[in-house]
Amino acid sequence: MQAIRLKKGREKSLLRRHPWIFSGAVDAVEGKPRPGDTVDVLGADGRWLAHAGYSPNSQIVARAWSFAREDAVGPEFFLARVRAAVGARAALAPAVPPRACRLIHAESDGLPGVVADRYDDWISCEFLTMPAERHKRDIALALMAATGARGVWERSDSDVRAKEGLVPLAGHLTGEEPPDRVVIEEGPARLLVDIRTGHKTGYYLDQRDSRRAVMELCAGRDVLNCFSYTGGFGVMALLGGAARCTNIDTSAPALDIARANMDLNALPREGAEFLTEDVFAALRRLRDQGRTFGAIVLDPPRFVDSRANIQRGCRGYKDINLLALRLLEPGGLLFTFSCSGLMDEDLFQKVVAGAALDSGRDARIVRRFAQAPDHPVALNFPEGQYLKGFLVQVV
Ligand code: SAH
Repeated sequence: MQAIRLKKGREKSLLRRHPWIFSGAVDAVEGKPRPGDTVDVLGADGRWLAHAGYSPNSQIVARAWSFAREDAVGPEFFLARVRAAVGARAALAPAVPPRACRLIHAESDGLPGVVADRYDDWISCEFLTMPAERHKRDIALALMAATGARGVWERSDSDVRAKEGLVPLAGHLTGEEPPDRVVIEEGPARLLVDIRTGHKTGYYLDQRDSRRAVMELCAGRDVLNCFSYTGGFGVMALLGGAARCTNIDTSAPALDIARANMDLNALPREGAEFLTEDVFAALRRLRDQGRTFGAIVLDPPRFVDSRANIQRGCRGYKDINLLALRLLEPGGLLFTFSCSGLMDEDLFQKVVAGAALDSGRDARIVRRFAQAPDHPVALNFPEGQYLKGFLVQVV
């Protein structure tokens, strides 16, 4: 038997079905498991707690696959988990579009380390832990069986794999190979997704509901879309009747797709501007030029990637929010987001409040945003909550 025996008192989080076992909680490893193997997790008194995937190179040395002793972690187990996750999304249609949604959201779907997004007929996956890597072929086959997709592509090229001692990987897993660009539908928009070389799995599905809000609230406004990536917020703003949209991103390939997305939605090119620029610098330049906007979107990448970095991340969020607030016309709207899981909503609100105070603008939160419902937060895994945002209206 391969097992991890916990120190006395350290079984508590597992009894609450939290799936992580930290190295400091382990008293002994029995039976020489190899990285990625499934082990039994036992309390100090020998009580059986979970089947878990073993990741000896990580701070989180094991993640629970199952809290049911009768489960056997293998192809049938993964097929059942994948079917449950896919079925849960289907039951949320049309709020969750079945052909453009996250199908597996890791721990919150009982599949730690596994992310799978559906883009039209294709599935793009990330396998972020040693045990997820071990079972990826079974999971890919299960995804094909549960969805009827044409192919599964792997985008395990995130740097978080290094924490597990895994090298970055990307490529074809099963079925047919996806084309270079896939078209998805989001509300009234058609959007290009580059599964092979885009960010993450190709697109940011988690912001679907916030993009709809931008569509509904920006008619007639001059919009500044910061950290635009492939222009999703900008396309939605223009489809909702925005007067103009300026998109800013440091990634030239992302802006190429953003331009193509204008054509795909029959939006006139004159209505949009695409600037390959650093947002921190661009906001200062726009301030110095005396530019103003009726709405600004701030959807930056994750600024806080470790607890040690929280202060520095807060300074980054405060800086862009302060600059953006100053660029708004009276009655203007700021859609501001943080996808840093280590920064909770309270802290983000304090940072935005600090920015408002220093900007000299009178501002109020009129709406709150979170990740779309295909990115659920299992109640036994609050860490699954990462994306939050505010709609701030200035006086
Ligand atoms: N709003 C997008 C997702 C944004 S992801 C959507 O709805 O799809 C964050 C983006 O910020 C990435 O495209 C990345 O290239 C860009 N980025 C990161 N740092 C930047 C910086 N300092 N200035 C401008 N863009 C930046």
